[in-house]
Amino acid sequence: MQYRDFGNTGVKVSRLGFGGMRLPTENPDYAIELLREGFRLGINYVDTALYYLDGQSEVLIGKALKGFRDKVYVATKNPIEDASGANWRRRLETSLKKLDLDYIDFYHMWAINWEKYTKLIDVKNGPMEEAFKAKEEGLIRHISFSFHDTPENLIKLIDTGNFETMLVQYNLLDRSNEEGIAYAKSKGLGVAVMGPVGGGRLAAPSEEIKRLIPQGTKSSAEMAFRFVFSNPNVDVALSGMSNLEMLRENVRIASMEEPLSQEEKDTLEEILREKQRLANLYCTGCNYCMPCPNGVDIPRNFTAMNYYRVYDLLDTAKDAYNKLKNEQKAAESCIQCYQCEPKCPQKIEIVRQLEEVAKALA
Ligand code: SF4
Ligand code: SF4
Repeated sequence: MQYRDFGNTGVKVSRLGFGGMRLPTENPDYAIELLREGFRLGINYVDTALYYLDGQSEVLIGKALKGFRDKVYVATKNPIEDASGANWRRRLETSLKKLDLDYIDFYHMWAINWEKYTKLIDVKNGPMEEAFKAKEEGLIRHISFSFHDTPENLIKLIDTGNFETMLVQYNLLDRSNEEGIAYAKSKGLGVAVMGPVGGGRLAAPSEEIKRLIPQGTKSSAEMAFRFVFSNPNVDVALSGMSNLEMLRENVRIASMEEPLSQEEKDTLEEILREKQRLANLYCTGCNYCMPCPNGVDIPRNFTAMNYYRVYDLLDTAKDAYNKLKNEQKAAESCIQCYQCEPKCPQKIEIVRQLEEVAKALA
């Protein structure tokens, strides 16, 4: 197992972190043994959240930690449900109880964005004040955040100076946080990433993804991991593992001293650049066509389609489309008013393209 300094926290973390969102809850004994085998194989960072697996994840991890507490760092997350510091504290106490711990190593403000931070977190008697108090009391060691927002707002959150580590999405297909990750590193934050294999989607069989795989690499999942590990600004990548085979394979990859050679990196970058160029032919994501009076999120529909068109990942594309559909922003909501088309600098036939998206993914 390889280890990295986790920002300025003074902690050395294993490059592979155990994500607690896919533990096999139907077999708790196996789940506990799986976690322990991970700890024995050198994983020293385990990540969970108050509501993962209907609240079972923290309980299972708490049990697995017996006998390993001094070797493993525990990260969990507090959902920011309101601006009340007292409620935030209650949720912290619930997590401590479920984990059966006296303290949490990395305690996250869960899935925050800039709006949440300014309106619910950094307010009088709010969660931020309560987090500093809890740290002083020794209930948490480090204050962290997990994040879903724009790259610009990631920089703003880092610049608040209130956080020691962060957890963000990062993988081959979604590099939107790459600059933010480098910035966090330069500011001394520890960087954890989630979704290194795109929630398993990059492991899907795809001829286009297979083209990215360097010689000697067993699978697209391995290649996706090696890509993430080859970024020196990433300290730990989380994987939600549900069986021993997956665990051992991921540990093998996280033990490589050089995840990608410079030559492999250059080849991969070249192919990815070409993919991005192809994706941009369809839509650069500039947003000039927005807003749509009927709520269609035009660029996100095209991004979903590009997973299919450019990367041959139909399931990923359908997942992304279904998400849009649930938010009533999908292509099929287009009423063909043609307000958007004249605004597109790429001269994309938006209406016709949206029809194609709906036909392929709805
Ligand atoms: S043509 Fe469709 S996508 Fe474009 S603005 Fe009108 S409803 Fe929205
Ligand atoms: S204006 Fe054109 S290129 Fe820009 S987001 Fe809309 S469709 Fe894509």
